[in-house]
Amino acid sequence: MTRYEAVIGIEIHVELKTNTKIFCHSTTEFGGDPNTHVCPVCLGLPGVLPVLNKQVVEYAIKAGLALNCEIAEYSKFDRKNYYYPDLPKNYQISQYDLPICKNGYLEVETGQGKKRIGITRIHMEEDAGKLVHQGTITTSPYSLVDYNRTGVPLIEIVSEPDMRSAEEARAYAEKLRSVIQYAGVSDCRMEEGSLRCDVNVSVHPVGTGEFGTRTEIKNMNSFRSIQKAAEYEIERQIEVLENGGRIIQETRTWDENKGITVSMRTKEEAQDYRYFPDPDLVPLVIEREWVEAVRNSLPEMPEQRVARYIESGLSEYEANVLTASKEVSDYFDQCLKTYNNPKMVSNWIMGDLSRLLNSVNMEICDCRVKPAQLADMLKMIDSGTISGKIAKTVFEEMFNTGKDPETVVKEKGLVQISDESAIAAVVDEIIAANPKSVEDFRNGKDKAIGFLVGQIMKATKGKANPQLVNKLLKDKLS
Ligand SMILES: [Zn+2]
Repeated sequence: MTRYEAVIGIEIHVELKTNTKIFCHSTTEFGGDPNTHVCPVCLGLPGVLPVLNKQVVEYAIKAGLALNCEIAEYSKFDRKNYYYPDLPKNYQISQYDLPICKNGYLEVETGQGKKRIGITRIHMEEDAGKLVHQGTITTSPYSLVDYNRTGVPLIEIVSEPDMRSAEEARAYAEKLRSVIQYAGVSDCRMEEGSLRCDVNVSVHPVGTGEFGTRTEIKNMNSFRSIQKAAEYEIERQIEVLENGGRIIQETRTWDENKGITVSMRTKEEAQDYRYFPDPDLVPLVIEREWVEAVRNSLPEMPEQRVARYIESGLSEYEANVLTASKEVSDYFDQCLKTYNNPKMVSNWIMGDLSRLLNSVNMEICDCRVKPAQLADMLKMIDSGTISGKIAKTVFEEMFNTGKDPETVVKEKGLVQISDESAIAAVVDEIIAANPKSVEDFRNGKDKAIGFLVGQIMKATKGKANPQLVNKLLKDKLS
């Protein structure tokens, strides 16, 4: 039986978070009533001229540096010509043969260790508008067009075909999103379309040098669907080849509900777009001083955070988990500002917090518990106001309501009992009620004490200070 190898390359469009569009002063804000974030320039009315937004170039340089690219000294804009109602000018201003960045790479964790994925190029371009349909595109009786997004700045990041599995494709996309977020040039919100991935997939028999014909998959709105779409497409192509068919170069769309890829159209070739230099924009010359200034302005990147966390006493594993998302890492750092115990904070974020977030499918940035509130609760454990066990209950209530830990503890009467005489009374009761366990303990069965502690905690609804319970019990039995 023939064994196949998959080859995957990814193109990622990232919306840059500038205040205004790439060639005009219209706002880039997400949403808004249709066709309100527009002006004659982004609507492509006759007689207008584009003016390049300097911030876009700076962000593109920043992204390039974060992805280990060379920044071109000389770069230019080209017109990519095609007709579609979301494109009022009938061409998109993009970059063709002289992109702003090239020859970079990204290191990705894979099942077989670290792997370097090449980045061919990064170029700047303007986004197109959006067609709006009633229901789905195939059943809607009409198309409406919203030009608010037209002219929003994008960078397109093109990888080398270096990935060999769907898992690697997902790992690359996730890592890239994280690096771009750390660099601070985009929100990378997939659900708002500010990060969009196109995945190119081909397969060929293992041992043959030449790559197979590839298809491009669009319309995946989560990292999970990138992996699932790539997995499906690899299987589909192998099956076609096994049955003696051949792969057609085409664009396919991912149908999330059905879990399949569907043919959309045959893939255009570059020559179909009749690229030519945009005569309205001068070529872009980027001074080396500017590149160095941008390099110096790069914020702390994931690798640096990992090193800092390990230095503060976390394991490499913990440091990697916490820094995988900038939001989680920022949350962690915020907690440390008022409660400087990295290990404890890390345990709570990676444990209870991530469990609760997962249970309701929520991102940490939408979490009602603010970092300072988690820090406050951890202080209450340290001061003995609540036990570590009760803290789990307190935290869950904070998570569900957004209330402060003090409020939750007061409302639910969860203050830890640290009054010796109060605990001693319960200890006496439990000893009296369990003569068998007491005898076992005195006969050297150490396990019996665990049972007695459990009974005392149960009698106090978990509120007795466990250290105190242990101490009193041992005192009384010795
Ligand atoms: Zn405009």
